[in-house]
Amino acid sequence: MGNKKSAHKFVIANWKMHGNLKHNASLLGAYASELANLENTQVVVCVPYPYLAQAQTQLQDTDIAWGAQNMAKDVDGPFTGEVSAQMLSDFGARYVILGHSERATAYCESDENIAQKFMVAKKQGITPILCVGETLIEREAGVMELKVGKQLDVIIDLYGVDVFDNTIISYEPIWAIGTGLAATPEQAEAMHQFIKGKLVRQDTASENTVKILYGGSVNPQNAVQLFEVESIDGGLIGKCSLNAQEFKGICQAAESC
Ligand code: PEP
Repeated sequence: MGNKKSAHKFVIANWKMHGNLKHNASLLGAYASELANLENTQVVVCVPYPYLAQAQTQLQDTDIAWGAQNMAKDVDGPFTGEVSAQMLSDFGARYVILGHSERATAYCESDENIAQKFMVAKKQGITPILCVGETLIEREAGVMELKVGKQLDVIIDLYGVDVFDNTIISYEPIWAIGTGLAATPEQAEAMHQFIKGKLVRQDTASENTVKILYGGSVNPQNAVQLFEVESIDGGLIGKCSLNAQEFKGICQAAESC
């Protein structure tokens, strides 16, 4: 369970540092009952580390997958406070958010660190959800593609473009995260097209199987407009994932597109 091979869209909840055992029990319960009938949408919930076991217990017999919001770049060793990819797998996690701007800013994570984590996750069979995006200053200066391009180039230069096969990229303009000010469908589409362009394979016979999501103030009201854009394969959802009804509205929008 927990993995729809043919999912057309992905809707991924990022709970950030919210929740507690009691509250999570009811939210996961609501996810399990309210999101049971989606056919084309893979729902994933990325919980804080201590709640992976709870997500596993409550979601293992459903189509909803779960994952983490970060992981170590090292496989194991003396790294106090870190959590390895193997440890995530032990709790059935199949997805991990990497490079979220809240981490990159607060914990000074470099693009090189994130690239290493990306590869370690893939080797462990965990799907990386790579976050990329620009600040408001970068957008106003017109250098948003330069910024996102560099974030991707670090990985492409190290491992080649094919490493993005079966992975997820989430375009998250930093100015749109938690602000209530989502990118317009046109702004998101332009960046998604740019990202797709960067990932064109040398061997043009096969297309890259990467999914490109949009994240940043997605809500039930704007979700259809965004998800209708062909190059948007779904969303990474912060605030609205903490409310079962709002999250359901977003998942239904994905299902309808
Ligand atoms: C996020 O943090 O990844 C995010 C998209 O948050 P929000 O939906 O609250 O803007």
